[in-house]
Amino acid sequence: MAKKRGKRTLEHYQIRGSDKIVEVGDCVLMRPPDKDMEPFVAKIEKIEADAGNKVKVRVRWYYRPEESVGGRRQFHGEKELFLSDHYDTCTAEAIEGKCIVHTFKNYTRLESVGADDYFCRFEYKAATGGFSPDRVAVYCKCEMPYNPDVLMVQCEGCRDWFHAKCMGLSTEEIKKIERFFCPDCCEDKKMPKKTSPKEKHSARSRTPSARRGD
Ligand SMILES: [Zn+2]
Ligand SMILES: [Zn+2]
Repeated sequence: MAKKRGKRTLEHYQIRGSDKIVEVGDCVLMRPPDKDMEPFVAKIEKIEADAGNKVKVRVRWYYRPEESVGGRRQFHGEKELFLSDHYDTCTAEAIEGKCIVHTFKNYTRLESVGADDYFCRFEYKAATGGFSPDRVAVYCKCEMPYNPDVLMVQCEGCRDWFHAKCMGLSTEEIKKIERFFCPDCCEDKKMPKKTSPKEKHSARSRTPSARRGD
């Protein structure tokens, strides 16, 4: 066993040129090798200083959809990240800033999405390209997992959620609809596709996850 003489585990690290403090468990933006690339996102697992007081961080990488084997899919959100099983030790000087990687549920409930807000709903195995969970709920006629960046509307009949686009509805039209019924429910119950617009209520056009508890 090699001796780890002089290595010290640190509680936190102050990002160079800023007053921001990074702790174990925090998510950070790391300087990419190429200036034109987006910063890498990582979770800090360990902070350590060597004998020469050089600070190194053990990181667990988040992958962007583009970096996964299957690439970016239609249902991937703009701020979506996958928590990978890929770890590295890097110089702490590569840390450019902090960010927040929200759970999917919390992300869909954000009032506004800031530049440093991301979300993660899948873990990703870098070697195999496998995802966990490998199944997710699907919505709409197109049977796609939910993309929080795409407008959806809930059917008052079957309670499923539908993409405005798949229903041929614009954002403006969605706002004006009081109650929405999907084509299947219109057929079943012989209901009109759209009821007359009223000012009082509008169709639920938020997110599938928002249907619980609000
Ligand atoms: Zn759809
Ligand atoms: Zn329906």
